[in-house]
Amino acid sequence: MPAPLRIGVFGGTFNPIHVCHLRVAARAKELVGLDRVVFVPAAHPPHKADEKLVAARHRLEMTRRAIAGRPGFEVDDLELRRPGPSYSVDTLDEFRRRHPAAELYVLVGVETFLELSTWREPHRLFAASRVVVIARAGRSFEALAGVPWIGDTPRAVLAGFDATTGEAALDLGPTVRVVLVKIAPCDVSSTQVREDLAAGRAVKNLLPAPVYFYILEHRLYGARDAGA
Ligand code: ATP
Repeated sequence: MPAPLRIGVFGGTFNPIHVCHLRVAARAKELVGLDRVVFVPAAHPPHKADEKLVAARHRLEMTRRAIAGRPGFEVDDLELRRPGPSYSVDTLDEFRRRHPAAELYVLVGVETFLELSTWREPHRLFAASRVVVIARAGRSFEALAGVPWIGDTPRAVLAGFDATTGEAALDLGPTVRVVLVKIAPCDVSSTQVREDLAAGRAVKNLLPAPVYFYILEHRLYGARDAGA
C-alpha cells in the first residue's frame, strides 16, 4: 500500500504574506516530511480586529503570487468562498472529505498554538489532524508547558528542545498529536510590514518580490511609491 499523502494546512490572515511565512512552510514541509503545504487565507479571522485587514481578494492574490513556481506549495480559497467566520475545524472537515486517506497536519506558530483553546472545537481539530507547532522569534517551546494539548510532556523536554542547536522536528508521541518544529528564528510579522509600509520604511527584504510589487501597484497599507 502506498504511504498516505501528508498534507500540511497553513491557515493565516496573510495580511500580507511575508518571507517568514514561506520559510516556515518550507522548513516544516521538509522537517515533517509533508508532500505539500496548502496556504489557506482566512476570510474573517475570528481572533483579529478587522480594521487593518485588506480585501480578501488582495490577500489571496498576494498569496498566489508568493507561492507561484514553488513546488509542493498550493493556495486554497475555500475559506473565502464560505460565508461567515473562518473556523479551522470546518476547513479540516473539507480537506478530510477531499482526501479521506491523507494524514492532515495543521501548521501554526508557537503564539498561535498558545491561543488554540479559544478556537472552535479544538478537540475535534486534534482528532482530525496533527498540529505542527513552529518556533517563532522571541517565543520558547518551554512556554507551552502546562498547555493541555501537549499532555504530560515534561517542561525539561521542551526546554531541552529550545536548547538544541540547528533545525529539527520533535514528535511528542502517539497520544499527543503535536509535532514541534524548530527553525532558525525568522523575525518578520505582517504587523511589522504594515507599520513599515505606512511609515515609508524599507520592506523589500521582508516580502517575496511579487508581493512587494503588488502592494506598491495597489497602494495597499498606505504604501507610498517605489523605494518603500
Ligand atoms: P500579524 O502580525 O498581522 O498578526 P502574522 O505575521 O502573525 O500576522 P498570520 O497570517 O497571522 O501572520 O500568520 C499565519 C501563521 O503563521 C500563524 O500560525 C503564525 O503563528 C505563523 N507565523 C507568522 N509569522 C511567523 C514567523 N515569523 N515565524 C513563525 N511563524 C510565523
